[in-house]
Amino acid sequence: MRIQKDVIIIGGGPAGMAAAVSLMERGIEDILLLEKEDRLGGVLCQCIHDGFGLTYYRKNYTGPEYAAIYEQKMVENHVPFLTEATVLSVRSPQGGENLYQSLVTVQTAEGTTCYEAKAIIAASGCRERGRGLAGIPGSRPAGIYTAGTSQALMNLKNFMPGRSAVIVGSGDIGLIMARRITLEGGRILCVVEKEDVPGGLQRNIQQCLEDFGIPLFTRTVVSNVYGKERVEGVDVESIDETGKSIPGSLRHYDCDSLILSVGLIPDEDIIHDRHKGVFLCGNALYVHDLVDDVSLEGQMVAGQVETYLIKLSEGQEPDETRYSYHGIEAMRAKRADLLLRKKEAARKKAETGAKTITCIMCPNGCEITHDLNGGMCAKGPEYVKNEILNPKRTLTTSVRVTGGTLPLVSVKTTGGIPKDQMMEGMKLVSELFVTAPVEAGQLIRKDFMEEGIDLIATKSVKKAAGNFA
Ligand SMILES: Cc1cc2nc3c(=O)[nH]c(=O)nc-3n(C[C@H](O)[C@H](O)[C@H](O)COP(=O)(O)OP(=O)(O)OC[C@H]3O[C@@H](n4cnc5c(N)ncnc54)[C@H](O)[C@@H]3O)c2cc1C
Ligand code: SF4
Repeated sequence: MRIQKDVIIIGGGPAGMAAAVSLMERGIEDILLLEKEDRLGGVLCQCIHDGFGLTYYRKNYTGPEYAAIYEQKMVENHVPFLTEATVLSVRSPQGGENLYQSLVTVQTAEGTTCYEAKAIIAASGCRERGRGLAGIPGSRPAGIYTAGTSQALMNLKNFMPGRSAVIVGSGDIGLIMARRITLEGGRILCVVEKEDVPGGLQRNIQQCLEDFGIPLFTRTVVSNVYGKERVEGVDVESIDETGKSIPGSLRHYDCDSLILSVGLIPDEDIIHDRHKGVFLCGNALYVHDLVDDVSLEGQMVAGQVETYLIKLSEGQEPDETRYSYHGIEAMRAKRADLLLRKKEAARKKAETGAKTITCIMCPNGCEITHDLNGGMCAKGPEYVKNEILNPKRTLTTSVRVTGGTLPLVSVKTTGGIPKDQMMEGMKLVSELFVTAPVEAGQLIRKDFMEEGIDLIATKSVKKAAGNFA
């Protein structure tokens, strides 16, 4: 038996949830969102750091807090969804004129179900490039992880990927993992980047590497990996502009892990043929740096689907499948502009030797001089004054949970704590544990490190079944 739906949304990350909520708000209610994990939120669930929502909400949320906003909207708008429902394929049904242009096969614990849908929104996110695609030579021992996998292991499973690591690639995930591993007591020996400017946002270079004195080597690659059972060390080498290694530049690092942050690839493999009525959004369309752009795109795609359904119902020939090409073009222009600004800032710094401080208050990452020039808004000079007199950072990490459905709950400080006391803060956190259930926003420790700054939970953790405590 096939179940018919107007729209099926694949993926319960921010893109899928934003699209589904927007469809309901537009009165398109015969929809179903399918998510393969046992929870909504997508990659946000493992991103326990802050920095989400800065452009759209003008708030500095953590990943789980941002996900909770959309989960709440899903509930308020009565969006029908299934978790632990993996879409295996999306095909065009064979033969005949049919309003239902997509055949969707879904695997759940109960078995396989087929749906027919007038439109599909594929919001299935992206996957990480692995070692093969990064072209790293040497042996293949244990201890080589992608940055996203090591993030999920640490933040969701309470498993430390290694004690000493070299990170390949300076994209945001690699930078964020450099800080995370350092805060948890591991050692990041260096980050190597084959391009001549780092890939990640300047604010992440500042708060994830420079804050902890982690060296970043640009125009540098890993040229060998050593170790039989487990990684024992790596060689890194500088390269010239043609990609050839520079003689005499080889350095060896003893380490037990290699973390790869070498790019993400949109994941749309489940779409078997690009027939009409298939719409992509979020990281399934192209890899977005900022979640706010993803949410806006989800809403925009819902508008495109609405137009498509209207044309279909009026018997008009709908347009070809709409991929948000203008979104891709806007992203390319944004990235090119960011790269230009990074290169320009690096050139100016090298030429004038001017000492600047990177404002980390938003993704723009303005370089501000000590005489308080260079910021794009008034927050910059204020940030620099504080940074010179009393630098502070929000601490985001996790606390152990007993009797919960998860071993950890993500937490944050409600304000900045002195930057040089972050490790002390982590020591305090390591001594804490909470008993499930835990509610998002729950006070974990009052006056944490400083009077008036509390440590609070940033997500909820339910009591595990069979826990009668
Ligand atoms: C480590 C990291 C750090 C980041 N830091 C920031 C930051 O500081 N600030 C910021 O603004 N942005 C940040 N981002 C970017 C932003 O969070 C992401 O771009 C955004 O969350 C992507 O949303 P999405 O819905 O497209 O994909 P995802 O969140 O990946 O969601 C896709 C969903 O689809 C599901 N799915 C996949 N295949 C199937 C299938 N076959 N069947 C059913 N379900 C399926 C997945 O399980 C997943 O839940 C970060 C991203 C990462 C990875
Ligand atoms: S100065 Fe303003 S625009 Fe520039 S990074 Fe700081 S907050 Fe953002």
